[in-house]
Amino acid sequence: MDMIIQASYLIAAVLFILGLKQMSSPVTARRGILWAGAGMVLATLVTFLTPEVIDSAQASTNITLIIVAIAIGGGYAWYSGRKVAMTDMPQMIAMYNGMGGGAAAAIAAVELLKASSEAAADPSGATTIASTLGTDVAILAILGAVIGTISFSGSIIAWAKLDGRLSLSRILPKQHLVNAVLAIATVGFAIAIYFSADINTIIIFFVLALILGVFITVPVGGADMPVIISLFNALTGLAVGFEGYVLGNAAMIIAGIVVGSAGSLLTQLMAKAMNRSVANVFFAGVGTDAAAPAGEGIEGVMKEIQAQDAGILMAFASQVIIIPGYGMAVAQAQHKIWELTQILNEKGVSVKFAIHPVAGRMPGHMNVLLAEAGVPYDKIYDMDDVNAGFKNTTVALVIGANDVVNPSAKNDSSSPLYGMPILNAFEAENVIVIKRGRGTGFSGMENPLFFADNTKMLFGDGQKAASELIQAVKEL
Ligand code: NDP
Repeated sequence: MDMIIQASYLIAAVLFILGLKQMSSPVTARRGILWAGAGMVLATLVTFLTPEVIDSAQASTNITLIIVAIAIGGGYAWYSGRKVAMTDMPQMIAMYNGMGGGAAAAIAAVELLKASSEAAADPSGATTIASTLGTDVAILAILGAVIGTISFSGSIIAWAKLDGRLSLSRILPKQHLVNAVLAIATVGFAIAIYFSADINTIIIFFVLALILGVFITVPVGGADMPVIISLFNALTGLAVGFEGYVLGNAAMIIAGIVVGSAGSLLTQLMAKAMNRSVANVFFAGVGTDAAAPAGEGIEGVMKEIQAQDAGILMAFASQVIIIPGYGMAVAQAQHKIWELTQILNEKGVSVKFAIHPVAGRMPGHMNVLLAEAGVPYDKIYDMDDVNAGFKNTTVALVIGANDVVNPSAKNDSSSPLYGMPILNAFEAENVIVIKRGRGTGFSGMENPLFFADNTKMLFGDGQKAASELIQAVKEL
């Protein structure tokens, strides 16, 4: 039986890795998700055959509890996965991420509490968590507990921010000092757990780690959330891998390592996209609540344009670069934008799509939407490949993007966006911005691009504005 279990875990792990590999291209991503899902089903089913489940004195209780947990978790995930709006996906992912961290932390808590009560049975008081669990298991259980708990509470805060339930980047007085003291205390209690078996030490440790996760995430703002979200993703993977070792579960170890390493790479990419170091995001408290009121301190005025005039500019352009952002996702305007592109192409206009790595609310958000609309991949350009081309572009059409085209990131050292690479839309001959009103982007910062001489605002919902542009270009 053990052979079958271990072989099944190995097959599950191979399916995870092959699935992940296929997720790297939009063409194969759907298949990749199915493969990884099949691996997860296999790993779950085979768990019923493990001796801890079936050979235990409480086998029927164990099996009932697992089935109840699967029914509640799986049922809720199925329901929420079906009904979630595309624009709410980032929140859902942050929440699932938090659940992964929380599950790893819960495994650690069970193992530590079990070891603590075993040690308490020793009247000499000489037994510790380390001597009960063994050095390697104790260290990994505690490390997984630290990382999983921080990732759990931090991801819940990230969910609340993305869902608009928590206003951005509240910074306490002396936030860095508070965070540093909390971090030191959490590590101190983690070490104390190893050398003792005191239940209160374990409880205080978990409370501190929970608070630390909250305090680390609350001040992150500006536009740095993508970095912290992918970091929690990596940490969750790591915590699951550590707890897999504690349970002796090969599938958990491999799945955890795969998520941990993929998440680490993503964190590096996101940090590079923001031109920040991970430590800077963690400790700098770069967010701000002090966004300038509309237009204050910015030269120029917003100039409006109607769809007919915008259509003329685009129809007679030699090159148009379209910059999609979060607002395109909200408006679900990707299909209309692709239709507009095809009509412009028929009129001999070259059209490219420029994607900023953190546009939208999740990595690859814009690529997913454009792929869904059928935009060919050779029309979609990464920031580094397209930026030099704005100088020779007649129209940069910004649809629902804001922070990723904010020139303050280049020239205003007091801005929380300062240092983040942007798409150089401001260098185009004309900039047309589609947005509903004068609202700021995710960072809460005002955007000087909208007030620039070469920028015209086409106010309205993204889908409606794109339809009007199609009509205008068709009529020419
Ligand atoms: P932003 O969030 O900066 O701006 C979106 C703009 O879209 C707003 O200014 C809004 O203006 C407009 N908008 C909203 N709804 C509509 C609509 N229906 N029709 C037309 N326009 C609309 O988007 P960006 O993509 O430029 O930047 C992404 C931001 O999100 C960055 O700061 C990034 O760091 C952050 N982020 C990214 C994550 C990721 O992984 N990609 C994760 C978490 C955060 P108005 O209200 O006036 O319409």
